[in-house]
Amino acid sequence: MDAPDIDELTPPDRTLMGPGPSDVHPRVLRAMATPLVGYLDPSFVEVMDDVQRGLRYLFQTDNEHTLAVSGTGSAAMECAFGNLVEPGETVLVPDNGYFGARMGQMAERAGGEVVPVSAPWGEPLAAADVEAALDDYQPSVVGLVHGETSTGVRQGEVDRITTAAHEHDACVVVDTVASLGGVEFRTDDWDVDVVYSGSQKCLSAPPGASPITFSERAVEKIRARDAPSDSWYLDLEGLWSYWGDDPSYHHTGMTSTLYAAREALRLVAEEGIEARWDRHSRMSAALVAGVEAMGLDLRPAPADRLPSLNAVSIPDSADGDALCDRMLEAHDIEIAGGLGDLSGAIVRVGCMGHSARPSNVLETVGALGRSLEAQGVDVDTGAGVAATNATLE
Ligand SMILES: *Cc1c(COP(=O)(O)O)cnc(C)c1O
Repeated sequence: MDAPDIDELTPPDRTLMGPGPSDVHPRVLRAMATPLVGYLDPSFVEVMDDVQRGLRYLFQTDNEHTLAVSGTGSAAMECAFGNLVEPGETVLVPDNGYFGARMGQMAERAGGEVVPVSAPWGEPLAAADVEAALDDYQPSVVGLVHGETSTGVRQGEVDRITTAAHEHDACVVVDTVASLGGVEFRTDDWDVDVVYSGSQKCLSAPPGASPITFSERAVEKIRARDAPSDSWYLDLEGLWSYWGDDPSYHHTGMTSTLYAAREALRLVAEEGIEARWDRHSRMSAALVAGVEAMGLDLRPAPADRLPSLNAVSIPDSADGDALCDRMLEAHDIEIAGGLGDLSGAIVRVGCMGHSARPSNVLETVGALGRSLEAQGVDVDTGAGVAATNATLE
C-alpha cells in the first residue's frame, strides 16, 4: 500500500460570522499549543478545577455539579436529556426551530413521550402556552432553547416558565449553546435546573468542551432514576465523580481542549460577564443599524432578537446560498443560510464571542452589501457602512 500524500495544513484565514464556530482569541490558540500532561496529573486536576470555577461564573450559578462534557453542544444536549428523562415520562419541547426539534429527538430516544409547544419559526414560545401545556400534560421535563440559532430568536420569560414548571414538579432544561457568554443568562436567579452550552459559539473556544450545570433538584431527579441511562459515556454518576473532589479515571480528559476552554473562561472573567453581554448587544446593534440602513430587515421582532445570531431577511430576488458562497469566496467571511421554514428567506449572521468586535462587524456589513449588489439586488451599501460606523462611534 502506498503512503498517502497529505499536504501541509494551511486553513484559509476566514472571519467567522456564522452560527459557530466563532473566531478564537490568539491567547486561546496559544493555550492549545502548550504541552500535554496526564489526565490525573495534579496540574491537570487544577486545570479542571479552574474550568469549573470559570463555568460557574459563565452560568451565573453556585451549582456544585458544573462541568464540561467531552463533545460538542449536541453531546451536552444528549447528556441532559439522556440522564434527566426516564422511559415513559412526558417532555415538553419547543416547536419553533431546528434545535427544539433535536431536543425532541433526544428526549424520545431516552424513552420520553414528547409533546411539542408551538410558536411560528421566528417567534419565541409564549409563556402562557407553556403554562397551559404544563396543566394539560403534567410533564416531568420542560425543554427551552434560549438562543434558537435557526431563527435568531431569544426565548424570554425563562424565570416565569421555571416558576410554573416547578409548581408542577417539572425540571427545566435550557439550551444556551448559541447564547451563553454572549446574552444575559442567570441560571440561579432564574432557577433553571439544567443548562448546557457549547464552547465554539459565544465562548469562542474550539468545539469539544461543552459546559453543563445541574441544580440540586436536577441532581436529585437523576439520582432517583429506576435504571441508569442508556449511555455509558454520558452517564452523570461517572462524570460527576470524574469532575468531583477526588477524581479517578473515567475517560481521558481532553487536555488541549480544556486548556483552550480555561483560557477562554479567563478572558470572560477578565472582561466581566455583564460587560460581555453588553458588548454583544452593542455589536449586534451596529450590525442591525447597517443592515437596516442598507434597506434590509431583520426577521424577529426587536424584543425577540438574539444579539449573537442575527437573522437578516433577504429580498425574493436574492439567492441566499449564492450570497453565502460569495461572502466566503470574495471576502473570506463565513455567514450561513436559513434552515427549515426560513430556508431561502434569511441569512444568519453571527456575532459571537471574539467575533463580536467592531472590525468584524464593519467588514461584514460592507461585504454583505457588495455581495448583494453583485447579484443585482438594489441595496445602499454605503449607507449601511455609514450607519454601522456611526453606531460604533
Ligand atoms: C450549535 C447549536 C447546537 C448544537 O451544537 P453542536 O456543537 O453543533 O453539537 C445546539 N443548540 C443550539 C441552539 C445551537 O446553536
